[in-house]
Amino acid sequence: MVRRETGGFFFCAATVNYGVEVKVMRIPSTNLVYHFAADTPPVAECSVGEECVFETLDCFGGQIRNESDRLEAIDVERANPATGLVFVRGAKRGMLLRVEILNITCVSFGLISTHPGIGVLRSSFNRYFFKMVTLQGNRGIVEGTSFPLNPMIGVIGVAPESGAISTRFPGNHGGNLDTREIRPGNTLYLPVFHEGALFGLGDVHAAMGDGEICGAGVEVAASVRVRFGVVENRWGIAIPLIEEKERFIFLYSALKLEDAFSEGAAMVLRILQRATGWSEEKIYLLMSATCDFQVSQLVDPLYTVKIAIPREVFPFTL
Ligand code: CA
Ligand code: CA
Repeated sequence: MVRRETGGFFFCAATVNYGVEVKVMRIPSTNLVYHFAADTPPVAECSVGEECVFETLDCFGGQIRNESDRLEAIDVERANPATGLVFVRGAKRGMLLRVEILNITCVSFGLISTHPGIGVLRSSFNRYFFKMVTLQGNRGIVEGTSFPLNPMIGVIGVAPESGAISTRFPGNHGGNLDTREIRPGNTLYLPVFHEGALFGLGDVHAAMGDGEICGAGVEVAASVRVRFGVVENRWGIAIPLIEEKERFIFLYSALKLEDAFSEGAAMVLRILQRATGWSEEKIYLLMSATCDFQVSQLVDPLYTVKIAIPREVFPFTL
């Protein structure tokens, strides 16, 4: 079910600080889940510090292979799979799971799609259609038009506090976050609700714009290499958090976009208060002056927003 080996067999790649081939745990894309849940039997165990490669299917479960395939004919039960779940040794309830995104290698084609009832223009584009995208190096080509790729992970998460959450949903456990900054070179932190965290990922995009307005990025099968760690959760962080060189980005999801921003802002303010000891008035004003509030995605069952904190302003460390 799970094998340890070296090398890869994919084509276009985004890699950070990765020149030497080493032994890694590999989780094949035969190990798929459609929910994040604590009662899911893990398919493998990884240790802190160990690297793990997740082989993922695209969000259609590999059911669309060329232009003549029909989007309306796919088995929706096989849509949006994640590969996993993996038990991370040392991840205990109350900690944060640290996931360094080391590398994403995509296959040589992807597709962009929309279908009835999805997308910000669903009233005008209330039908199924898609375009195949050729991936060459760090460029995508659709109908002769070339554009830059930005490989990123759409679905990434852990077992939630309770129940089973579909891989279609984003939330405090991660899940369908569809956030461009979950990409090689950055580190994602997720709250650990259960021993071993029970981690999985999938739904890789070779490129996506903020908002993901038609409901899809460049959907691809891929191979994703990560390294796990754990940290104590000193500030009571209960939502996903991305670490970049110059910013921390908190992710918050809600049914209404306005609520995502206001509830997310309140949560981040409280975290910064605990971490800095500053007054809430000072933090609120400095957030307004220096923090970017941006959209991750506008098309999943909950909206996801990004609240980016400049590290040079806020003395916030994990
Ligand atoms: Ca997605
Ligand atoms: Ca997707």
